[in-house]
Amino acid sequence: MAKGQLEFQEEVDAARIENAMWRSWKADGSGDHSGDHSAKTEKLERVRGSIGDSIDFSQIRYPQETRRCRYDDLPTFPVRPNFAGFENALQPASQCVVFDGCPEDPYHPSNTPIYQTSTFVQPSSSEFGPYDYTRSGNPTRTALEKHVAMLEHAAAAFAFSSGMAALHTVTRLLKQGDEILVNEDIYGGMHRLLTQDCAHNGVQVTFVDTTNLTAVAKAITPKTKIIHTESPSNPRMKISDLRKLATLAHQHKVLLSVDSTMMPPVICQPLLLGVDLVVHSATKFFSGHADCTGGLVCVRDPELAHRVAFLQNAEGTALAPFECFLFLRGIKTMWLRVNRAQENTVQIAKALAKHPRIKEVFYPGPGGCSSEALRIHNSQSSGCGCIISFTTGSVSFSRRFLDASRLFKTTVSFGSVNSLGEMPCTMSHASIPAEERTLPADLVRLSVGIEDVRDLLQDLQRALDFASSQKPPPEHDGYDSRFEDLPVVPRPPDEEERPRKSLSEWLLSEVEGPSTSQMLSGAVPNPNDQNKH
Ligand code: PLP
Repeated sequence: MAKGQLEFQEEVDAARIENAMWRSWKADGSGDHSGDHSAKTEKLERVRGSIGDSIDFSQIRYPQETRRCRYDDLPTFPVRPNFAGFENALQPASQCVVFDGCPEDPYHPSNTPIYQTSTFVQPSSSEFGPYDYTRSGNPTRTALEKHVAMLEHAAAAFAFSSGMAALHTVTRLLKQGDEILVNEDIYGGMHRLLTQDCAHNGVQVTFVDTTNLTAVAKAITPKTKIIHTESPSNPRMKISDLRKLATLAHQHKVLLSVDSTMMPPVICQPLLLGVDLVVHSATKFFSGHADCTGGLVCVRDPELAHRVAFLQNAEGTALAPFECFLFLRGIKTMWLRVNRAQENTVQIAKALAKHPRIKEVFYPGPGGCSSEALRIHNSQSSGCGCIISFTTGSVSFSRRFLDASRLFKTTVSFGSVNSLGEMPCTMSHASIPAEERTLPADLVRLSVGIEDVRDLLQDLQRALDFASSQKPPPEHDGYDSRFEDLPVVPRPPDEEERPRKSLSEWLLSEVEGPSTSQMLSGAVPNPNDQNKH
């Protein structure tokens, strides 16, 4: 074996080495007050003795004949730390930023590079390197999955090509004949996946109100393997008690899965409440800029992690390197974005609740839900999120309101820096057949962005005034695409000039005209001034 190469011996489990290195600061005595310290130190010394003080991950080899794991375990699931019991001394805002995404890169770049490759050259025909094929594993994806695992306190996190691919993977943990209990109020795409895909594959799908623990307890059968919910739920913002649901689920040896898309890890970490699987549509708050789609599955249990890794590889649903890079970038500002948007949300919810044309406001803040629901929500998360839904008592009023708002763009999705608005029945939840839908038709869902709240409040007031009036629908007059009243540079030819000069002649004469400094000094009148109103 060449110098510097490492071959794992019996005692050194490949999957634990990075763990040991990552946690060495604890075993070194800084901050660890639990467990048998001397045993931990001894174990670490043993690992150090076997692999040396520093490890060059690019030199790791997995000899095919002597490896103890199955083929599908490596390199499908490259070595990575288990963050399930990780105690991070940093505050959430810092955790989003302080993360070394590529400690093994020889150049140690400050940001994780995009490993835009489908394949990795193997050390020999009888050994695997840490990566072999991007569907199975890619360093940019590992970096994203590690950072997400750290934020969510997960044994491992997995990045998928969309939130739906992540949710699909959760349902793939079920076999024919198994049952999944699902909250009555969930994202329309998940409803479609369950009722029109899983159910056709022999999985029994039962809807239940997960805010009602008695109803859930009654609904559990020996076939139940997963309970799946959202808290707050999309779009009616119902709150489920995740701690109590987890206890109930575990009493029946059932897994609890939570789609926490509305509650990014900077405000809620459901794995710490006992939840087994946390799913995100990363398209929302992890991106934050509505520029890429992705999904995440985070798990507490290493065995479950291996199963999810297997499915990610076997079904080819993993996220591509470029998108991983975008999400890594998005995470850095996640705390800032979410906090700013939450501040706006509180003010907007207050204003909506006071408005005479708004019937009911739903959001996990004062006035947006019952005091008991608010107590539960506050006990499991540190913020209200950035989504509000409300009813107006009239479908046409809701439509006129949305059509008139200019800053709240009529768009599905949420979690972007821009404010958005939509009507779930005809947009995000339209895939639920009308006869099965229990949503009010006049329901409007707003996703509050990071704009100045004064602009947002003014826009909402204007749209509500318009919706209350008898005026015909406004022309589309978006803020960001029309600038007719601003001076144009260079000035277009006047109508009379056009027939006499070709455009190139005219441009040339403009270029040869007075210099900018002459215009600034006032020596020559600025032609653009004529355009100012
Ligand atoms: N989960 C929730 C709560 C959602 O709102 C969405 C999409 O809007 C999804 C999952 C699906 O995510 P994606 O669109 O990234 O597939």
